[in-house]
Amino acid sequence: MKIAIAGAGAMGSRFGVKLQNAGNEVTLIDNWADHVQAIQQNGLTITQNGHDTVVPMTAAAPQDVTTHFDLIILFTKAMQMDQMLQDLSAQLRQHPMILVLANGIGNVETIERYVPQENIVAGTTVWSSSLTGPGHITITGTGSIALQAMVPDQFPDFKRLLTTLNDAGLHASPADDVLAAIWKKAGLNSVLNTYCTLFDCNIAQFGALPNWRALTAAVLNEFQAVASAANVHFDAQADTELIAAQFAPDVNGDHYPSMHQDMAHRRPTEIDFLNGYVARLGQALHVPAPTNALLTQLIHSQEALRGIP
Ligand code: NAD
Repeated sequence: MKIAIAGAGAMGSRFGVKLQNAGNEVTLIDNWADHVQAIQQNGLTITQNGHDTVVPMTAAAPQDVTTHFDLIILFTKAMQMDQMLQDLSAQLRQHPMILVLANGIGNVETIERYVPQENIVAGTTVWSSSLTGPGHITITGTGSIALQAMVPDQFPDFKRLLTTLNDAGLHASPADDVLAAIWKKAGLNSVLNTYCTLFDCNIAQFGALPNWRALTAAVLNEFQAVASAANVHFDAQADTELIAAQFAPDVNGDHYPSMHQDMAHRRPTEIDFLNGYVARLGQALHVPAPTNALLTQLIHSQEALRGIP
């Protein structure tokens, strides 16, 4: 399959290598010039368990891409997706399959502004990766994907897509209710990412706070009320237990969530697609979500204090 990874940072590069190793023709598309140049000149370097592997790969800036693709996997951050879709308008006119696995709620709405709903597959993934420098990722562990076509009975290639992902060892399985899965992951991220960033702590330190359940309930009870008004399944109690399961050091306790890393490296956060999305949707549906609105403002204030655009 001819596959474009649109946004070939930490996750996109990891997925790109696995798909290329399985025999697909993969192009990494990214607008970070140093990253693209490093891959073009030296290949992509992957560090795993202290060992480096270098994989020759095709990389290009969006404006330099002329190929047409069977599948475009969008792997920018949520707030970068709109621009990426605009930059790939020529490729989108060929009606490729679009797969989005990025975090946050609202990515499908962004994509639907450019792509017919029946060409979109959305999902969540627990694979992980870090972009260590231009042309260099560091990876650990393994992962999986749960995905669903937005219009299942009008997406005949779903089995082919699943086979392509699984042949690459990406452990993909169909989701029955992908919106519920997206909200579930966003609920977890809206607690752990946001509080760990505000408190400058890791996940175990958050879990050791005597009031972590009250802090969590303040976010997730609003998620549940807004989800209910939007006809999306969300279970605050189940999400709370999922969060509690992350605290052990051998699970995710030692981990600083990606928003913490974004803030530390002076990069914009995905807050508007996590707590911010629920605050906005709550306002539109007349369901108050003041805690999520305040947390969104607190993160934006921290971004402003650090000079993050
Ligand atoms: P990243 O910042 O490492 O990668 C995004 C890439 O997109 C960057 O290389 C950037 O240069 C590129 N980009 C952005 N806008 C662009 C544009 N208009 N044109 C071309 N290139 C553009 O991010 P990531 O960590 O790979 O995360 C991607 C998504 O996956 C996010 O939603 C994140 O929350 C989610 N996610 C990440 C992890 C992880 O472990 N990193 C795990 C699960 C989910």
